Amino acid sequence: MAIVGGSIAGLTTAILLGQLDIEVRVFERQAPGGEPRGAGVGIDLDLLAAVTGYIDTAPPYIRLRERRVVVEGRTQAERVEIPVTAHHLLRAFLHERIAPRKIVAPAEVVGLNLHEVEPLRLAFADGHQERFDVVVGADGARSVIRAGVVGEPLLPEYAGYVLWRGLLDEAALSPEARGWLFDVPALIVAPHARQQFVAYPVPGPAGEVEPGERRLAWGWYYGIHPDRLGHELELVGRRGEDIAPAECSPAILEDLQASANPHWPPAIQEVVERSLERGSLALHPVHELAVPRLARSGAVLIGDAAHVTSPITGSGVRAAMYDALVLIRALVDLQRIDAALGVYETRRISLARALVEQGRSAGWGFRLGY
Ligand SMILES: Cc1cc2nc3c(=O)[nH]c(=O)nc-3n(C[C@H](O)[C@H](O)[C@H](O)COP(=O)(O)OP(=O)(O)OC[C@H]3O[C@@H](n4cnc5c(N)ncnc54)[C@H](O)[C@@H]3O)c2cc1C
Repeated sequence: MAIVGGSIAGLTTAILLGQLDIEVRVFERQAPGGEPRGAGVGIDLDLLAAVTGYIDTAPPYIRLRERRVVVEGRTQAERVEIPVTAHHLLRAFLHERIAPRKIVAPAEVVGLNLHEVEPLRLAFADGHQERFDVVVGADGARSVIRAGVVGEPLLPEYAGYVLWRGLLDEAALSPEARGWLFDVPALIVAPHARQQFVAYPVPGPAGEVEPGERRLAWGWYYGIHPDRLGHELELVGRRGEDIAPAECSPAILEDLQASANPHWPPAIQEVVERSLERGSLALHPVHELAVPRLARSGAVLIGDAAHVTSPITGSGVRAAMYDALVLIRALVDLQRIDAALGVYETRRISLARALVEQGRSAGWGFRLGY
């Protein structure tokens, strides 16, 4: 069995298959130890226990104690319990639970040849091909496996708004801002006139959770008309990554400066200013895609390859891990690949659509800002 993509969905699948002694190889385009994505993500500790088979095992995380909503200078807080980590720490945690020989990296897959009666063939960037009975496409939002499963190339579309996101060292902030943002670890949400700012503490780059060594993950959503984003959308289409401020056109950077909300608490103003000074922010034009088919002739899509939803839902990681669990449970229960993939598709496709729809509903108001 082959898994294309060694991130959240692919690694979760490999862990579960390892528990069943099923031979698997994970092909990952990124070299080991490559650039971490660095975003903050919520983690579901029960789900992690279901995947690893152990309770109380998790990557380093911070427990958010409060949800603090700031509107026009007024603050409302409610108690919550949300464990959060950073994307690269969760990924490293999953990676450690797989025998190194099962992960082939860097190895870029460029296509899937799918015949109804022959084994599946993966084509690699170095020109060689390999045959497999089952291929799991866990290769993210710009999946190359998706075209084989769906029957035509299908890519996510710009949702009409962007997310500026950043990661800032706690130590880079003034004592006042640090106190407001870190003393009670909180999910801070500041909605304002067709925009939304969110921020919360996450562990430091190597998993540090001690005061002074943590980081602040933040995101700022607002609408930008697609015509203003031509160059940036072309960049995302070509390489599928976030865009550094230096790569943005001057008009987009002017938007950023002009959109700062005068009603934000000083700590939020400071976070954006410090991040701009240090270049520790990136533009992410939000993209979405509901995929009409998840399985075909031994090939199956999971995670972002199967559904691209707006980050505003905060649910991509959880959905990717659930996809893997549902897929492997279907394989165990049915013991036949075609039947199991059919059951997986039936169970997950409406959830996948609902997830994308949830993002569309949460984000539609941002588009009214232009
Ligand atoms: C800006 C942003 C913020 C987000 N915030 C949150 C959040 O707060 N909470 C949350 O739950 N989710 C969030 N998400 C979503 C979350 O990151 C994804 O849903 C999750 O990472 C999906 O995991 P995945 O394994 O399916 O895909 P990915 O994590 O995208 O991994 C795909 C893997 O496949 C590899 N790959 C791709 N193509 C190939 C190829 N051709 N050959 C070999 N390997 C390949 C890639 O290198 C990568 O390692 C956010 C996403 C973004 C972009």
